[in-house]
Amino acid sequence: MATEKPFDALIIGSGVGGLSIGIILSRLHHRVAVIEKNPLPGGLMRSYTRDGVDCPVGVHYFGAFGEGQPLRRMFDFMGVTEAVAAERMGRGGPIDRYLFDDCTFDLPEGIDAFAEALETAFPDDFRPITAILGNLRAIADLQNSLSFLSSATIPFLDMDLFTTLAVYLTKMNCSARLRSVLCVASRWMGLSEHDCPVIYHHLALTSYLLSAWRLRGRGSDLAEAFISRFAGLGGSLICNDPAAEILAEGKEVTGVRLASGRVLKASRIVAAVHPKAVLAMLPEEAVKPRQARRIRSLVETEGLFAANVAVDARTHPALPHNIYRLHTDRKGWISDGVFYQLRAGREGQSHLMMITQSPFSEWLRWEDTTTGRRGEDYQKEKIRRTEGLLGKAEEIFGSLADGKIIDAYTPLTLRDWVNSPDGSPYGIMRSVRQLPVAAALHRAPLGGLFFAGQNALAPGILGTVLGSFQAVRQIMGHESFDRKVFAELFAGKGKSGK
Ligand SMILES: Cc1cc2nc3c(=O)[nH]c(=O)nc-3n(C[C@H](O)[C@H](O)[C@H](O)COP(=O)(O)OP(=O)(O)OC[C@H]3O[C@@H](n4cnc5c(N)ncnc54)[C@H](O)[C@@H]3O)c2cc1C
Repeated sequence: MATEKPFDALIIGSGVGGLSIGIILSRLHHRVAVIEKNPLPGGLMRSYTRDGVDCPVGVHYFGAFGEGQPLRRMFDFMGVTEAVAAERMGRGGPIDRYLFDDCTFDLPEGIDAFAEALETAFPDDFRPITAILGNLRAIADLQNSLSFLSSATIPFLDMDLFTTLAVYLTKMNCSARLRSVLCVASRWMGLSEHDCPVIYHHLALTSYLLSAWRLRGRGSDLAEAFISRFAGLGGSLICNDPAAEILAEGKEVTGVRLASGRVLKASRIVAAVHPKAVLAMLPEEAVKPRQARRIRSLVETEGLFAANVAVDARTHPALPHNIYRLHTDRKGWISDGVFYQLRAGREGQSHLMMITQSPFSEWLRWEDTTTGRRGEDYQKEKIRRTEGLLGKAEEIFGSLADGKIIDAYTPLTLRDWVNSPDGSPYGIMRSVRQLPVAAALHRAPLGGLFFAGQNALAPGILGTVLGSFQAVRQIMGHESFDRKVFAELFAGKGKSGK
């Protein structure tokens, strides 16, 4: 098949990570193509519709989107803010309600309000609360200054921030219940407190304390906002044709061969997909056996089971906050939990979303099946689990006997939709143990190859978009990035709504 005019950069994957890079590079006048295996672009940010109900996948709420805050500044740079219809949570009530067996904690907006809520709930924990809040404020400042993306020296960070959250909270002498409350934020990234580095926890928690948002419209609208901006800047989007092979000459990338056989040329390739998927595309001789083994042995974040149910809006009106029902052990460590969002649904209905952990191993029976063809047993199992979740939800919401199951998805759904090994929702586990290997991923085996997406820096919309800016920084070189990108990002700081 004939080759085409070379692009300046090819981006593999059209999730929020890939499309962000596509937009940033296009804005900087690069000729870019984004390659997507699915017929529809958008990856995890795209929602889907069943029975007329919009079911979100990877965007339930996100942080730091207030005016002048980090995510908003990055969206402003990309020119997508206006097209994103989002509502601020935590105004006149909590962002999240944590329900434990013996107490309830409401997560408010704002670090000061959080400090006050903790001091009221845990008066005997004054000392650890003061110390932890000091660290949270320092991390919030770091986050607000976007210093991760600048050439300015990052301030010295306490080594305690690189231990696990469990070790840190134990060292701080927190009571069991304070531990439980503080551990929830690590779950937002698919990490238990025994794995989660404190720095990630603090970054995630402060981003939501700065401001928490949810989409007013559909997740697909968010995807479309990115897609139309990219197209408006002249970017090419190639869908329904997976990248099959990264082509190289010597130690430099030269292009990508798609599954259809089409060959696209570029001297820069950004892989905004899982590193294991990248490994499978690389010429065998390009990767040292040790590096390949390391990538293959990366542990993934644990799978999720999610169910969507329509309930009567008169008996179950929409809630402006999220609910986490959490179970803990004697020491306050979280053993399991369910996340609930009760949103306005179709006329007369509310839409109850329930998400809980479900390791890939629970779905191994259907490992060799594909979406839509997994058979009746699989459907039955999904219904059985949804009914189990509904039973638990009744303890919180009262009778849900009138609930109508709309749809449920499993780790297999995510595996097949976005090509994530074992259906990992947040990609590789960024545990303390895996931090060195995760950091080493930035040293790509071929010249001109860069990593992005949720596996590059951090998961979540904020972490993934930050990772995209960081990848662009590597592509452009620090000096040029500081001048052409960071200066504008930094200029938005004056409007900070902290
Ligand atoms: C159930 C769930 C709930 C979540 N909730 C939230 C939340 O509330 N807030 C939040 O901030 N984050 C949330 N997240 C995390 C967030 O959705 C992700 O971190 C983020 O969307 C990842 O974006 P990405 O671009 O890295 O990956 P993806 O969105 O997975 O995009 C990767 C893309 O690459 C494509 N691809 C893969 N292989 C190939 C190939 N060979 N060729 C071409 N294309 C390929 C895939 O099809 C996909 O479109 C959630 C995630 C899940 C799973």
